[in-house]
Amino acid sequence: MTKLRAVKGMHDVLPEQVPSWRRVEETFRELAGRYGYGEVRTPLVEPTALFVRSIGEGTDIVDKEMYTFVDKGEQSLTLRPEGTASAVRAYLQHAVHAREPVTRWFYLGPMYRRERPAKGRYRQFHQLGVELFGDPSPYADAEVVDLFVALLEALGIRGVSLRLGTLGGPESRARWKAALQDYFRPHIEALCGDCRRRFERNPLRLLDCKVPADAQLAADAPGALEHLLEDDREHFETLRRVLDELGTPYEVDPHLARGLDYYGRTVFEVHGAQDVLGAQSALGGGGRYDALVERFGGPPTPAVGFAAGIERLLLALPEAPAPDGPQVFVVAAGAEQRDAAAGLAKHLRGAGLRVATDLRGGSLRSQLRRADRMGARFAAVLGDAEVKRGVVQLKDLAEGGTQEVSTEGLVGVLGRRLAAGQPPAGGNSTNT
Ligand code: AMP
Repeated sequence: MTKLRAVKGMHDVLPEQVPSWRRVEETFRELAGRYGYGEVRTPLVEPTALFVRSIGEGTDIVDKEMYTFVDKGEQSLTLRPEGTASAVRAYLQHAVHAREPVTRWFYLGPMYRRERPAKGRYRQFHQLGVELFGDPSPYADAEVVDLFVALLEALGIRGVSLRLGTLGGPESRARWKAALQDYFRPHIEALCGDCRRRFERNPLRLLDCKVPADAQLAADAPGALEHLLEDDREHFETLRRVLDELGTPYEVDPHLARGLDYYGRTVFEVHGAQDVLGAQSALGGGGRYDALVERFGGPPTPAVGFAAGIERLLLALPEAPAPDGPQVFVVAAGAEQRDAAAGLAKHLRGAGLRVATDLRGGSLRSQLRRADRMGARFAAVLGDAEVKRGVVQLKDLAEGGTQEVSTEGLVGVLGRRLAAGQPPAGGNSTNT
């Protein structure tokens, strides 16, 4: 029989890895809440046209990487490759713009792109991100950048660099595009196939080509800044001033274009953990997409957002948090105490404690060894005499020492001792 394995580039997350995931997710949820963002959850599957019309033809995502299929109703559907298009669709579908002038949303969840798998690059990966609708000002851009930087700080991820760029609005962008075409035109024959194709439609894409010769050529290409109209220049300068004010270091990258079609004005990327991630060092990025809501048939609505890759943040985390072991391991000294042990475990769980037992039974020693291996803080041992007298022997597995405690008083004693993190003075006494 062929072995069944997870799809290439898609990974299981096992329980010992989950504490790190939860740290990232919970830190983000908490922080996004502090900035006033509400969580939005959209379907994993969307009509294919949503992504084609937003991300754009000529991008790697749309041309090569989408998981697209025709369902039994003959509709072309796609597993979402990113979160912004879905957020915009939901924003419009629910006419959120009619209810409130400014909307702050965040999301997290799996995304799908059929890329070549590598460290930090997968086919199912997870993103967290925010979208801020309705505010055209550079202060909104600064808020979004600041939220991203604050997340990295809260996670203890250091040594990151923020690259900041601007594409300008439609007119500035058209001027820059023309300048890029003028620059690349004499070299067109030497460019890779992808770049030759993109030359007419989307010359900005030539700036993020990974083919070494093309990348070298791109390094001297004209930048965006010298083609900016006055409004766009002012927007960018204000953003820079606000980031300076917030104490957020950045470097201006005049060639930053980002992989997606819908950006205009501000774009940014955060890189870090190069030692682990190598070439895939973008932890996340984002920018302004003022035209997208309108392109989907909504009213003109400025918007700005970012998305970060959760797997990459995990690779950049300074240390993995340890899984929470059980607080109490209930031990039945003999087979006759197993019923009582089951009852006690249920009672303790009902009181909110994390409880483990060894359902296989076994010798006292082997059960205590298992409790130790699981990192249990206490063991509550029930022998024949204990069951008859309604007590347990409570062993402190971290500090040593045993205390006899009545089963009725056990929740209270455990609560106090877990809170104190210390064994009480005195040792062997009966608490009721
Ligand atoms: P993008 O939507 O392409 O701007 O990506 C935003 C972030 O998502 C990137 O900076 C990465 O951290 C992460 N990301 C994008 N594609 C992948 C992938 N295939 N595997 C893992 N992370 C990814």
